Amino acid sequence: MSETLIERRARLMGPNVPTFYREPVHLVRGEGVWLWDVAGKRYLDCYNNVPHVGHCHPKVVEAISRQAATLNTHTRYLHDLVLDYIERLGATFNHGTTQAIMTCTGSEANDIALRMAQAVTGKTGIIATDNTYHGNTALVSQLSTRKPPIGGYARNIRLVPAPDSLRPVGGTVEGQAEAFAANVRKAIAELEAEGFGFSAMLLCPLFANEGLPDLAPGFLDPTMAAIRAAGGLMIADEVQPGFGRSGSHFWGHDRLGFAPDVVTMGKPMGNGHPVAAVFARADVMAAFRDAFGYFNTFGGNPVSAAAAMAVLDVIEQEGLQANAQQTGAYVVERLKGLSHPLIAQVRGIGMFFGVEFLLEDGDPATTFVADLIEGMVARGVLLNNIGKHRNTLKMRPPMPFSRENADLLVDTLAQVLAETPVLR
Ligand code: PMP
Repeated sequence: MSETLIERRARLMGPNVPTFYREPVHLVRGEGVWLWDVAGKRYLDCYNNVPHVGHCHPKVVEAISRQAATLNTHTRYLHDLVLDYIERLGATFNHGTTQAIMTCTGSEANDIALRMAQAVTGKTGIIATDNTYHGNTALVSQLSTRKPPIGGYARNIRLVPAPDSLRPVGGTVEGQAEAFAANVRKAIAELEAEGFGFSAMLLCPLFANEGLPDLAPGFLDPTMAAIRAAGGLMIADEVQPGFGRSGSHFWGHDRLGFAPDVVTMGKPMGNGHPVAAVFARADVMAAFRDAFGYFNTFGGNPVSAAAAMAVLDVIEQEGLQANAQQTGAYVVERLKGLSHPLIAQVRGIGMFFGVEFLLEDGDPATTFVADLIEGMVARGVLLNNIGKHRNTLKMRPPMPFSRENADLLVDTLAQVLAETPVLR
């Protein structure tokens, strides 16, 4: 029998490139919110935030093609497009983070951000939430490792319990902000006592990988006070919340109402083209240059800048942030109309939704959610899971998602819910 694509992938790429779903999907084409596999089956994409303005958006494709046909070279020559981009995006921040280092991935951006904080403070202690993911460099992967690293966990890193809607830190929803901050204060004290000192906290303002909890604006106020009192930096990882995804705001940190010292971003920024960035104040940039220095061959090259600029154009021209807010609210309303005994909570922020499932005894319905996902894929709807126990359905579609798309998503989910058995 001839070798399958899965076997060939394993033979050529080894075991380090996971795929989604029990039957990995072989996609060959995308357009807007739609994807097609090799057999011609069409899928509604309710998962991917990378094609932020829609798969293969013609304006982004055109910008990439035009610039690729004109000039692409490494980043040590002068070019105005990247400067126009940084100026334009920098103007969306209201806390002075107007200078940028361009990179190719969110991992690199977070790595730089953490080292910036170490450069500013002269200290090495880092705080993040548990059950998170911020990337895969040697430094950043220590924040989200699922296996003990060789040599053991780094002592300068502390992971505090992530906020949670159903099992709040500290036991009550009302007390969660203070309880979260208390754990941050404790971690800072430990880092100081052990001689590392405290340099930064890094978090996603939606706590998306952690489960997308419902949090009121101001949630991080006591945490920010603790960070400021200790002289450390706050780094907002906007890889998932950024570029209008939260609907009400262009940036997740503005939605939650806190002012980070450094902002990192990636995934949706180039609509699939690998471009990412770190935005920081001039004083932070200067400290980083003095302590480390930095160069990135591809980060912010002319083609990347053209792709990123076209994404901003489309977000504005097509009113995609407003769509995230309006259509997003409709999706939540429809999801809340679903009836199933295991649905514990429906959550939504802009164009990002979670439905958490618990078994009758209150345990996470992890297997049930895995089965639901497979059922949805079989019926042509792509989504996935989030959260510590992977018992929350994760839906994060491209931003042009319409009410009609929302109806298809929720109607399909209703069918799959009805036909998926509850097994422990
Ligand atoms: N931060 C967060 C919150 C992410 O979810 C991810 C990727 N899933 C990253 C950083 C890493 O980005 P990249 O894969 O581009 O390195």
